[in-house]
Amino acid sequence: MHIASSSSGRFPSASSVSRIRNALLRHYDRHRRDLPWRGESDPYRIWISEIMLQQTRVVTVVDRYHDFIRSFPDVHALARAPVARVYEAWAGLGYYGRARNLHAAARAIVRAHRGWLPTTYAELTTLPGIGPYTAGAVASIAFGEAVPALDGNAIRVLSRLVASADASGSAAAVRQLSASAIALVRGTRPGDLNQSLMDLGASICTPRQPKCGVCPVRRWCAGFASGQPTRFPAACPSRRTKPILAVVFAWLEDSHGVWLERRPSEGLWAGQWQLPGAEGPRARARLAERLDVSLEARRLARIEHELTHRQVRATVFEATSPWRVRSRNGFRRFERPLSAPVSALARRTIQTVLAARSDP
Ligand code: SF4
Repeated sequence: MHIASSSSGRFPSASSVSRIRNALLRHYDRHRRDLPWRGESDPYRIWISEIMLQQTRVVTVVDRYHDFIRSFPDVHALARAPVARVYEAWAGLGYYGRARNLHAAARAIVRAHRGWLPTTYAELTTLPGIGPYTAGAVASIAFGEAVPALDGNAIRVLSRLVASADASGSAAAVRQLSASAIALVRGTRPGDLNQSLMDLGASICTPRQPKCGVCPVRRWCAGFASGQPTRFPAACPSRRTKPILAVVFAWLEDSHGVWLERRPSEGLWAGQWQLPGAEGPRARARLAERLDVSLEARRLARIEHELTHRQVRATVFEATSPWRVRSRNGFRRFERPLSAPVSALARRTIQTVLAARSDP
């Protein structure tokens, strides 16, 4: 793995790196979070858990992990299954692009690697849906390769440890923190070391109120020494300037359930279910025309939802004559729409409408 060098914000010396590493591992051995995939040696299961953990809270993943493994106990079972079944098993986890990539990667593993997960960081990054973080996590945890795995928690801890002035997520910050992380993982337990950083960020070095008083690496922490650890990592300027995406959704409900529409198999939220929607100029009129309904009735909800590169402003209108979509391709009625494989935005939208309706 090639990482360019950086001149600032590094650990002060090799001996401090070794002490920080030991302190992190000691703390991890005593206080690590008890998660279903901890102690797991099957690379397939480690991979599944790491993909689930991208962008989904740990408590939600804990709920869904065992069911998914029961449905697809190994890479062959996952590769054999139709992608629609994988979407169904992914319900509740959101960001369904991950399920699609997981399925594509399983097929690639069976086809090109005879069903064995590749064992190195470099090979893992050639599979769909496996970026630097997941490759680092799987390579270090499952195969003991000394490579970093920088998720949001690990980035925060390292930024504070070295008092990195670079904006979170910037190329300079990633370079600098990768160099620091590489120095730390050069030990006998790279997987545990990576997980110790993630755990520390989740439980002690939290975003707003780090518990420095009980932190095992406080004595080497430049952020703590500065007196203002929460200044690190610096906010990423691009977060404040996301373009707005205005979307209109139609709520089509009859006595048997709510009608959802399946998105195309390519692009954003591919293959997932959502309320029928439209975006851009005259979205409401165009949507009404496309569905052959009226959207002049009540506005049911307004939702703000943050995507990686855009800020979504969604408005939901009640539609008249919901049965008109009954015979259309790509539409289906769900008695319990939240049980369908829906995107995170669709989930929030449906939840907001249901909550508003039950609120007298
Ligand atoms: Fe984070 Fe405080 Fe520990 Fe530094 S001392 S790593 S800021 S919790």
